Amino acid sequence: MKNSQDFGSVVLVGAGPGAADLLTVRAVRALAAADVVVHDGLVGAEVMALIPATARCIDVSKRRARHTVPQHEIGALLVAQAQAGHNVVRLKGGDPFIFGRGGEEVDDCCAAGVPVTVVPGISAANGAAASLLLPLTHRDHASIVSFVAGECRGLAAQNWAGLAGKGRTLVIYMGVAGAGAIADKLMADGLAPDAPVAVVERATQAGERLVTSLLADLAGLVDREAIASPALIIVGDVAALPAARAMAKDETCRVF
Ligand code: SAH
Repeated sequence: MKNSQDFGSVVLVGAGPGAADLLTVRAVRALAAADVVVHDGLVGAEVMALIPATARCIDVSKRRARHTVPQHEIGALLVAQAQAGHNVVRLKGGDPFIFGRGGEEVDDCCAAGVPVTVVPGISAANGAAASLLLPLTHRDHASIVSFVAGECRGLAAQNWAGLAGKGRTLVIYMGVAGAGAIADKLMADGLAPDAPVAVVERATQAGERLVTSLLADLAGLVDREAIASPALIIVGDVAALPAARAMAKDETCRVF
């Protein structure tokens, strides 16, 4: 039986929303030292290009309703690779602890006595906000921001009341497929049908798109614009800022 000194280690690395220069220095160092990289499908090509040629890459990418590798097997894989003495990087889109199931992987490593650390990444919400000049909080518009998963266990039963509305920004991850149901849920909770919404597709990546409308039109917007994953939905007054700014300056560089 090995003791933990013989083990390699696992580093959960946040790969950010896509652009390689949004990685942290610590993430780049962890990648350079990796023997094994276990990655998912959200990691952008620019970031993947930084993986050393000597490292073994294992793709455990998951897509909605088509889970290629179940979560418990990913945990077991990380543990087994570390126990074999490797420096394992678990490369995840955005931040490992924002809808990244990083908590489960940390638990699996701890239960097996494998040393594990986490390198934070820029979550999609932060990447989108910066890239589109869409502040998530703003002295005049919002002093509360919430991140929710639009597709998760027990969504229908979840109480979102109070998460969106005056002075608040709601950022919905994984919400595009259920955009209509999400809008209905928010309006049933009393949110005004004319609350501003923004949908950000492929934030910080090539082909990034921002489209804006009003809550009652959210499903129509997603449909008309053929929005595809990965995309975020942002609800609240800040969602109207980029369009208002563009109109004020009569900018024609972005089409809303
Ligand atoms: N851990 C990730 C989130 C994983 S959940 C993070 O912190 O960003 C996957 C969801 O994240 C996608 O369905 C989408 O809603 C969002 N997402 C990830 N990358 C994105 C991007 N570049 N642009 C817009 N949304 C993105």
